[in-house]
Order: sequence, then structure tokens, then C-alpha cells
Amino acid sequence: MKYETVIGLEVHIELATESKIFCSCSAKFGGEQNDHVCPACAGMPGMLPIVNKRVVDLGMTAGMMLNCHINRTTTFDKKSYYYPDLPNAYQTTQWFAPVAVNGTVEIETSKGKKNVRIKQIHMEEDAGKLVHDDWTNTTLVDFNRTSVPLIEIVSQPDLSSAEEVVAYLERLRSLLRFAKVSDCRMEQGSMRCDVNLSVRPEGSDKLGIRTEMKNMNSISAITRAIEYEVARHIDAIENGTEELVQETRRWDDVKGKSYAMRNKETAGDYRYFPDPNVMPVVIDDEWYDGIKATLPEFPEVKRARYIDQLGLGEYDADQLVESRAFCDCFEEAYAVCGNAKEVANYLISDCMNLLNKKQMTVDMLTLEGKSLGELINLVTEGKVSRPNAKKILAVMFENDINPAEYAEKEGFIVSNDTGKIEKVIAEAIASDPKAVADFKGGKEKALMALFGKCMKELKGNCDPQTLREMLIDAVNKQ
Ligand SMILES: [Zn+2]
Repeated sequence: MKYETVIGLEVHIELATESKIFCSCSAKFGGEQNDHVCPACAGMPGMLPIVNKRVVDLGMTAGMMLNCHINRTTTFDKKSYYYPDLPNAYQTTQWFAPVAVNGTVEIETSKGKKNVRIKQIHMEEDAGKLVHDDWTNTTLVDFNRTSVPLIEIVSQPDLSSAEEVVAYLERLRSLLRFAKVSDCRMEQGSMRCDVNLSVRPEGSDKLGIRTEMKNMNSISAITRAIEYEVARHIDAIENGTEELVQETRRWDDVKGKSYAMRNKETAGDYRYFPDPNVMPVVIDDEWYDGIKATLPEFPEVKRARYIDQLGLGEYDADQLVESRAFCDCFEEAYAVCGNAKEVANYLISDCMNLLNKKQMTVDMLTLEGKSLGELINLVTEGKVSRPNAKKILAVMFENDINPAEYAEKEGFIVSNDTGKIEKVIAEAIASDPKAVADFKGGKEKALMALFGKCMKELKGNCDPQTLREMLIDAVNKQ
């Protein structure tokens, strides 16, 4: 018998905010244990949460990027469960009126394009972290992560293979990074997902027994886990190797197996009810329109524009739209110098090398696009040589400098002073009569020694072609 797989995803994304969802503690990664904690996020009695507006901004942005309807009155609810890293013994989340509902995301796989429906996006707080200390046989709790804001994006069960799941996650990541909702870094846990999966005979309209794998945080693990689970379900159905039950499972990527964790809770187990401490958030037209106006051009629209209107090749356009930081810098620099190809080259090769050397990601790029455009103008006008432009770029990477002023100050401006060039050439010729004789005797390569000496003396601030011509002229006159 042939089977089909039905997959729905719950994707948790940490929002790029400075502070936590209901207090002013830092939401940044790192810090000493329990450094970013106050009575509110530690769940002290009597403390009242206040919603961080930025969280709602980003929740709405995510909703709009995924074509959702935005609920103009959105409310928070308590989801009860007891776990030591959750000091209130409930999580504040959204159940009855989440910020965004009923969206779609278009994905593309080897089978073509497909729309994945989004059921809802809700805002909620993260839990803390338990640290097990084997030495003293104790467990400590770190509340730094408690109340860090998250959104959970819940899809309908529209996905049917690991390939589609990967395409969907990559699409989410691309859209949300472009809109600066989150850096969506799976390896750092700022994007993680729960995979709900069942298998049924092809063509059947009845869903099979569903299992859930929690907290998956790498694309390769997700792919392997889905393939394993599909095979396990089919084996159970066909050969009766085990009885399938609705449950939560843990994926062990080292062993390549999934293990039962606990019976799957149903919504009733969580006893959702409206949180009386958090006021409903009402989104008026001004707020809604303001967020709508900040939405970025979609990556594929940018890509097409770069190719069709600015004349970039497909490779360059693909590299640039990988990151919003690259696109922003590219567009600012292009506005100054009008040379798309040059800007793309500097970003894709030189800036990428500098980022790699500093072990930084593209999103950490702080280079001013305007300054890059000005530097390119200096090069194309012949005022600064290419090797010296690279040196200036390396300084621009660290400091906000004006490239023209810096080039002037450091002696990087190309010399048009032929008198000076002639003097340097005369000195080089006088210091190396053998090279002169060799060149005149037919050894073309002998010129390189003289050329190098002159260029060094001129600190690279000379048009190479001009120098070469003047040098040949001078040597031939000897
Ligand atoms: Zn706090």
C-alpha cells in the first residue's frame, strides 16, 4: 500500500528585542546566571506584567509578512503547567485572540510551488533554563531566559515531506530576517520547531495517529527525524511492530532514533484562561498602518529588481539577498556611486572576507553603504588605487571614517604629479643597471623588478598603466 505523510509545524522564534516581554530586563543572550532578572520575571507575588510594545510590533510584522489577518484586539492567556524553570507555574501566551491568524506562505520544492496555510501566530514568553550539576548532584535554575519574547508560528498540516518542511523553514527564516523580526539562528536556539507528524493510506481523508517531536534545532536533524518517524509509522501500521499512540517524542540525532517522552497533552490539560493581569492590546489604524509601512520588499522581488533593473548577474543577486544587511548596504552604496557591479564585488568578495576573518555573520555588518559608495567613486575616478582601496575598506569596517579624508590623510591619493613619478623612475633605474640591461636585452620580466620598486616608492598611489608606459619610455632612453 502507498502512504502519504501529513506534517504540521510549530515554529518558535525568539524576537529581536532589547528587553523582555513583560518587564525591562535585558533579553540579550549571555550574561552571568540570573543577571537579567527582576521580581516580575522571577514570578514574585504581586508583580504585574506590562506588555513590551516592541513585541507586538514584531508580532504584527511577522503576521503581515506571512499574509495573516491581524487581530485588532489581541489578548494574553495563562497556560498552566508546573516546571521549575517556569516561576509562575504558568506561561503567559495567547490562546483566544492571538496577534495574527489565517496566513499563507508560498514554498518551492522539486515538485513545484505550494501554499502552506498558517493557522496562527501567537506571542508568548520563554521559560528559564535548568542546569544540572553532576558534581554536587544538584539542579540550579537560571532565569535569564525567562520571559524572553517569542512568537510561535503554527502551520496547518499542509506539509508532506522533509523536503517541504526544509523549504518552509528556509522561507520563514528568509522572510523574518528580512523584516528584522529575528535573526532566526537555529544553532543558537533563536529558531526551533516542533514537528507533528502522522501517516495515512494515500487518498484517505482520515488522519492517522499523530506524534510530536519537540525542540528540533537543525535542518539536518529535522530531515533525519522525519524520515525515521515516517518509516516507524509505516512499519507499525503494516507489520504491527508496535502500537502507535499519540505522544511527544524526543529525537536523538547521535543515535538516529526517536524515543517516547510523555503522552501528548491536549489543550484541556493546560487549562487556558485569560490572564487578568495583562490588559488586552488594541491595535488602532495608526499603529497598524505604521507597521505596514515598515515592511521590506520581499527577497525575490529585490532579486528580480537587481537583475532586471541594475544589471547584476544571478549569482551576485543571490548572494546579496541572503541578508537584509547586505541589501541595505548595497542599495545605499549604489545610490551614491551608481555602479551596481562594483558595489556587489566589494560586498561579496572583500566584505565577506573581512567578515570571515573576524568570525562575524553577514547580519553583523555595520559598514555604512554611503561610505562604500564614496570609496568606489574614488577608485573609478582614478584617485585611489584598488589595492589601497582595500586597505581603506578594512579601516572603514571598524570605524566610521570619511574615505576621501582618510585617503588624503594617509597619503593614499593617486599622484598625477609626473615630475614626482619621473624622479622615482630615475632613481630606480640608477639603482638597478642590471635590470635595465636585461630588459633591453629582451628579458621582459626584468621590468617587473623596476616597476615594483617604483610602485613601492609611490606607496601604490599611481595608475599602473601610466607608470608602466613611463617606465618603458625611460628605460628605452638609457
Ligand atoms: Zn525582569
